[in-house]
Amino acid sequence: MSDLSQLKTLSRGKKPKIALCWCSSCGGCEESVFDLAEELVDIMAVTDIVFWPAALDAKYQDVAALADGEITATLVNGAIRMEHQEEMARLLRRKSQWLIAHGACAHLGGVVGLANFHGSADLLNRAYQEIPTVHHPAGICPFGEAPDGAGQVGKRGFYETVLPLNRMVAVDFYIPGCPPPPELVKEGLMMVLEQRLPPAGTILGKRQALCQSCPRRGSLPETLRLKEFSRMHQVTWDAAACFLAQGIICLGPATRGGCQARCLQGNMPCRGCFGPLDLVRDQGAKSLSFLASLADSADPEDLQRFADSIPDPGGLFYQFSLAASLLKGKADDQKNNH
Ligand code: SF4
Ligand code: SF4
Repeated sequence: MSDLSQLKTLSRGKKPKIALCWCSSCGGCEESVFDLAEELVDIMAVTDIVFWPAALDAKYQDVAALADGEITATLVNGAIRMEHQEEMARLLRRKSQWLIAHGACAHLGGVVGLANFHGSADLLNRAYQEIPTVHHPAGICPFGEAPDGAGQVGKRGFYETVLPLNRMVAVDFYIPGCPPPPELVKEGLMMVLEQRLPPAGTILGKRQALCQSCPRRGSLPETLRLKEFSRMHQVTWDAAACFLAQGIICLGPATRGGCQARCLQGNMPCRGCFGPLDLVRDQGAKSLSFLASLADSADPEDLQRFADSIPDPGGLFYQFSLAASLLKGKADDQKNNH
């Protein structure tokens, strides 16, 4: 990774313009930028940050007033769920030489993409009507019909499904992770500042499965056969041994490495936020396939017991990638509006 002291030489010329945008996400990716701490100050000293709603007061019109391609690079975090997010992504794409998908939601749809298991009407009904802590006798739902027949409530579109950023605009490269490690965010920014852009479509991180860089890999056996999986609260676990070897589900074998095995370091099994390896089309199917290959029996009853020991399979296998998967999710009977 580059030394930030080299940035001083870059500041002698015209400062490159940088933008950061937040679509449908939790804000963790913004934290991954703030976690650069003093290094962020160094980066800000040699760049001109023209748009960053999480930290600066800049408006849509400020971006629209720039010439096309005037922004050197934009980091977009979050998936696309709303019409105004699509509008912003398209505007920033036009104004930027490089557009970078920042974090798992922009990369694969992320946790917010799990909403694709439900139709938009069900989601809004759940959020604004059904939740026990919601007291809402008027029954007004944003983006829906007003109860008195006065027309539509709210003007901006709520799309039927969540989409990863590259389904809406061309993405030059990806910084994976939920959230991405700050070191990887720094690496992405340095690539831009030093003009050493990776080939189009590159996903920063390793090209090997996480297991290859996991501190527990020494205890991952060559062959493993299991009758069922256990959850962490059901067993006395060894904090240094491979989770799979202990019968606890870990998605490391089907996940791109490069996160510094941070969940494993914190005694948590991997859930796949760095996404699939190159050439894997569907992360959830790959995870399902490798877990199924561990079954110790071909007997239907044994297999049923094995399958039943996998909690919430849809949520587990597609925790970060449903919106980018072959399944894509479930649409209700409303017309898909994008
Ligand atoms: S399965 Fe999980 S715990 Fe085991 S080596 Fe791979 S990443 Fe590490
Ligand atoms: S261990 Fe897995 S879930 Fe945790 S940060 Fe790394 S890739 Fe993401």
